Amino acid sequence: MFRLVNLGELKCGKTDFNSFLKLSGDILRFGGVSKAIVIDRYNNVVKGNDLCDALRRLGCVYAPVTINEDSETLARLVTLEELGFYEDIKPEPMRVFRSTLELLYRNWPTPLVRLESLSSKEVNVWCKLEWYNPYSCSVKDRIAWYMLKKAFEELGRVDTLYEATSTNTGLALAALSNIYGIKSRLYLPSTTQQCVDYIFRLMGAEVLRKEATITTEMIEDVKKDALKDGAVNLNQFENDYNFEVHLRYTAKEIDLQVRSSGLKLAAVVGGLGTSGHLSAISHYMKNRYGDQVKVIGVVPASGSIIPGIRRVESGMKWVHLVKVDMIYDVTLKEALEGLINVARRDGILVGLSGGAIVQAARKAISDGVVNEGDIILIIPDHGLKYIEIIERCIEVQFF
Ligand code: PLP
Repeated sequence: MFRLVNLGELKCGKTDFNSFLKLSGDILRFGGVSKAIVIDRYNNVVKGNDLCDALRRLGCVYAPVTINEDSETLARLVTLEELGFYEDIKPEPMRVFRSTLELLYRNWPTPLVRLESLSSKEVNVWCKLEWYNPYSCSVKDRIAWYMLKKAFEELGRVDTLYEATSTNTGLALAALSNIYGIKSRLYLPSTTQQCVDYIFRLMGAEVLRKEATITTEMIEDVKKDALKDGAVNLNQFENDYNFEVHLRYTAKEIDLQVRSSGLKLAAVVGGLGTSGHLSAISHYMKNRYGDQVKVIGVVPASGSIIPGIRRVESGMKWVHLVKVDMIYDVTLKEALEGLINVARRDGILVGLSGGAIVQAARKAISDGVVNEGDIILIIPDHGLKYIEIIERCIEVQFF
């Protein structure tokens, strides 16, 4: 016999990322669990530590437990619903928030909106608007919040943060640092717009410009500086909580939004920077729904710089651990065309990477990669953030 108990009551340790990846994949694929966690009278986990940890990291509320060591395998599947898997997505219906932090996680799911400009009789294209996150007005609020939350749990306290960023992660971390009374130093590559310095300073962060084209070129320097000065470097490029937060929230939100609206999910299209969000969404969707959901990545074409996204060969941690069906190269000019098309038909101003994602979706439809159903584009941020680059695009007569 098993019973369902609150996961918070169980004492289990953390397992390594690869075991979590495998076990979370199994749980998503089976739609639940068919084993119980064996515990003693004091709620110590005796057997099934990896299962306990995986359920917790997936955001489940309950776990099946038994105190009889021999009856670990259950007679039936305990479903994701029974495990309270979907319960951590609880939007605030009346839109009243008691803190800006609540505004972050109780504002989820971020909206999904259908684009008239890209939809047809066969295919509907939807944008998940990540600029609805309050701090950086981007997808990066999610990782900044979660990486910091985990750092508090694991380190006890954080006094100073150092991080390499192209804009959004830095802005989110500067905001959260202010909330928690942390000093922040943000490292920017030389290619980032000048106005980002002003915004970071306005937020109270220290800004350091480096001779680098992309953020990843600064990783080792930031690590060294942090070590020397006793600062915490969350390191979005290698921190597995980057992946985990998108698995637990972003992907789960998409799943709930799709199911509650009766959509037929054919593809998800997203940009690749650290590869955190698209890899986590792929892990979720491929395990849950198989290859009927295509996962399409977007990177800048060789020679183009599009803020937030970069070439796979520049080094990404998670994209190699999951299945991505195809990757489209998009030039800055094409990204701008995507942005303009959506702005002039649907009236919303997506960011430059958003424009690149729109163009990739267009290509996927015209190439016949997706020919029916619903496509979801993950739009990382808003176009107003990129005025300096847009100014340069006008100078070279891109539009
Ligand atoms: N930031 C922006 C503005 C982006 O456009 C993108 C990807 O499209 C990212 C970040 C990358 O996200 P990730 O680091 O999760 O790959």
